Formats: sequence, C-alpha cells, structure tokens
Amino acid sequence: MMLRKILPMITLNLIRVLLLLPPFTSACFATTHCNNPAPGGGTFSSSAKQHQHQLEQKQRRLLANTQTAINGIPFSTRAYWMRQANLALDHPCPFAAFGTVIVNHTRQMGEEGGGLGELVCTGRNVGRASGNPVMHGEIAAITNCSHILTSPSGPYRLSPSQAIAAFADLTLYTNAESCPMCASAIRWAGFREYVYGTSIDDLVEKGWRQISISSAEVFERSGDLPGKPTEMIGEALTNETSGFFEWQFDDEAECPRGCQREENGGCKPEV
Ligand SMILES: [Zn+2]
Repeated sequence: MMLRKILPMITLNLIRVLLLLPPFTSACFATTHCNNPAPGGGTFSSSAKQHQHQLEQKQRRLLANTQTAINGIPFSTRAYWMRQANLALDHPCPFAAFGTVIVNHTRQMGEEGGGLGELVCTGRNVGRASGNPVMHGEIAAITNCSHILTSPSGPYRLSPSQAIAAFADLTLYTNAESCPMCASAIRWAGFREYVYGTSIDDLVEKGWRQISISSAEVFERSGDLPGKPTEMIGEALTNETSGFFEWQFDDEAECPRGCQREENGGCKPEV
C-alpha cells in the first residue's frame, strides 16, 4: 500500500529532475497552488520566466535598432517589409489587425527593386470574415503563397513539391509574434527566416487572450523537423506595429493613424 503511494511520487520527481524543476513535496501534491522555492531562491513562475528568457535569447535575434543588419539585410529593408505587413490589412484598424508578407530575399530584384527582395504574397487575419478560425494572417499568407507558386498562369508555375521546397528561400514578416499554431506552421513550411513585430507578451499586456507558448518554445521543440532551422528575428519595428493592437481593449488608447473613435468605443477608418 505504502509502495503504491510512494512510487508515483518517485516517478514524478524523477521527471522533474530531468526537467531541472524542483521536486514536488507531498504537501505540494495536496494543494492546488504550489509555490515551492526554485533553485536560486525564486518561485516556480520566476524560474519558468528565467527559462523562457534563456530560451528566447538562444532562439531569437532582436532587431531593435537601425544599425542592426542580420544575414546581410539592413534594418531599413526589414522595416520596409514590416510596414508592408501592416499594409496587408484591408484598412488601418480592423479588430484582428494581424498582417503578413512573404518575401524572397535570395532574389534582390536589382536596381529597380532597390535590393529589397521579391514580394511573393501577402495575408491578413480573415478568421471572422471567412468563418474559418484558423485563418490567421500567417496561415492566410502561406495558403496564398502556395496558390501563387503553383498557379499554371502565375509567375512561378512550380510543381507542388517544388513549391514546398521553395519555402526554404522565403522570409515571413508578421506584425505580431505568431501564435503557437502559426509558429508551428512556419516551422513545418521550413521558412528561411521569420521576422515578427509586437511580442506575444506585449499582446497579453494589452489585453489579448493568447495561448501562452512563445515562438521560441515552438522552435526549440521543432528540432527534429527536416531541413534547416528557421531563423527567428524578433521585435522589429514595434514602435510602428504595436499601435495596431493597443485600442481594442483600452478605450483610452489612440486609434491607429487614419482611424477615429466610434461612439461604441471601437476605432473605424476616418471618412
Ligand atoms: Zn496564429
């Protein structure tokens, strides 16, 4: 009888040791909220936050200032495409203001394109408009790109397998950090780079309900997928992306440029 009680606890504690978490005590088992001291004197939650921070440092490169060039692509080019992701919205203040562009930086388009790279497709969150709840901006863009890459009358005319391989040359820009569904889709697609604006943490702070798994965590757990890992570049041009997400749950926040407050508290395009 005693052994039957102790064995599960030993097994659970073994798992926790492997996960570098502090052990459960029987007192903790008995309560809903456990607040055991973590190694280093913190709590579970601060330990988890520290782990998350380390994960993000390892997985993500920040694009925080105008001097930063990553993979030979200057900040000004990243900023250009992040602005295009904002412009992928159908107007400046839709409720779900999540916009995406997908770009081929391996084709620089010479003088005419200013070395910016080639826009392959765009997408915006059309979940509510389409009745398809998974149509986040990134999923919509990936779907659009697949159509464009394989269209017999389009500029690329790739076979399905060629289209899938082509994603390894592409960079996805999204004005907010992807939810775990979209971050997983980005990894399954095998993008070369993924660049996001406003972080999930910032969205949550602004009142957005999110599945709280960061892209860094999704990427960390995607190591077994075939192909090269996707490079993540975070918090690009947040001074311009964050305004799109501030007004929905805060009546005091300014509407995005080009929009004004409605009587019911929302924002709508200026007429
Ligand atoms: Zn998503």
